[in-house]
Amino acid sequence: MKSPNTLLANTGTTIFTVMSALATEHGAINLGQGFPDTEGPADVVRAAADALLDNRNQYPPLTGVPELRAAVAAANKRFYGLDLNPANEVCVTSGATEAITACLMAVLNPGDEVVLIEPLYDTYLPVVKMLGAVPRLVRLQPPKWDLPRDELAAAFGPKTKAILFNSPMNPTGKVFTTAELAFIADLVQRHDCYAICDEVYEHLTFDGWKHIPLMTLPGMRERCLRIGSAGKTFSLTGWKIGYVSGDASIIPIVAKAHQNLTFTTPPNLQRAVAIGLAKGDEYFASLSSELQARRDRLSNGLAALGFGVLDTHGSYFVTADFAPLGINMDDVAFCRLITEQAKVTAIPVSAFYEGDAPHHYARFAFCKKFEVLDEALARLGAFARNRQLTSLTRSA
Ligand code: PMP
Ligand code: GLN
Repeated sequence: MKSPNTLLANTGTTIFTVMSALATEHGAINLGQGFPDTEGPADVVRAAADALLDNRNQYPPLTGVPELRAAVAAANKRFYGLDLNPANEVCVTSGATEAITACLMAVLNPGDEVVLIEPLYDTYLPVVKMLGAVPRLVRLQPPKWDLPRDELAAAFGPKTKAILFNSPMNPTGKVFTTAELAFIADLVQRHDCYAICDEVYEHLTFDGWKHIPLMTLPGMRERCLRIGSAGKTFSLTGWKIGYVSGDASIIPIVAKAHQNLTFTTPPNLQRAVAIGLAKGDEYFASLSSELQARRDRLSNGLAALGFGVLDTHGSYFVTADFAPLGINMDDVAFCRLITEQAKVTAIPVSAFYEGDAPHHYARFAFCKKFEVLDEALARLGAFARNRQLTSLTRSA
């Protein structure tokens, strides 16, 4: 038998699936894969249920139901002042995951270079490579995750077709600043390329940090493909409704990619998301303020246990250094150990890097009920005390 596709055959199962399976196996609290443990807004869920029963269950239009395309365009205007034509400047996809692939397919030819920022979300690299494009990686350094401007500039060249980056950023919780975005915009313009902007956590920012789409900067409207996700905006991660906003010169090409990937996305969920996007400002404000309170609970709790907790300004995640606990093992072993022994699961941050990576950080999701976060902290506390006791007994 001839071998199947080499790249996919050599790609491991995603770390989120691996760690969730391990959490289930050990009965652990799953602070690994990022999903809330409460339902999204009841009116949105009700709208989806109603939409199943009103005889509109056949293929919807390729780029999305008109209600959702209009709602995405209206949200662009309301939140960012962006004017988009819902007819040809919005494309609905089956989750941001599909949107990322569709956008990369839309802009890349084999041999094109793509600038990516590490740590990075796990689908970016395999898809870039599958398309025969060449990744150029630029690495942010903890604890501040500032943009290394010289390195970023050096990664751009005559073959650069696009930059793909994520803000607010998973796993770092970084929200790109206006100055950083202006620097990126300048590079994108000088190298005459596209920017694919993964903005799935656009409404999940804290402490007064505001998400700014690169697309709102001068000269960027024609060059940006801006990706959103209903899964994150409505705490319904299983729904897999994504949307791409961009210029009429490129969205129809994204739609061609979508046509070959999934063709359409369930109409009932799309119509419910349209209702969600029209919710009042208080919904969006409480989404982030409630999440911020959970971030504080987990971050403060981990810091009290002795973890080196990094700042997080957006997303579902906090990154914590476990080396200060005196634990000398790599992050993969650590996340496995706490799943098995403390019964709490986290994600090793090295999974967000290609090749050599920092090995003493774990990513914890805080989009959970307070009592769940408290129980996870109690378990981690007991685990840390036990280890200390064991090492004291050993050295005595
Ligand atoms: N991008 C990032 C940075 C993510 O964390 C995720 C995970 N939800 C996605 C894309 C995928 O989003 P969706 O579930 O809408 O496919
Ligand atoms: N985005 C989610 C995370 O980072 C996981 C999504 C997935 O499991 N593919 O945890």
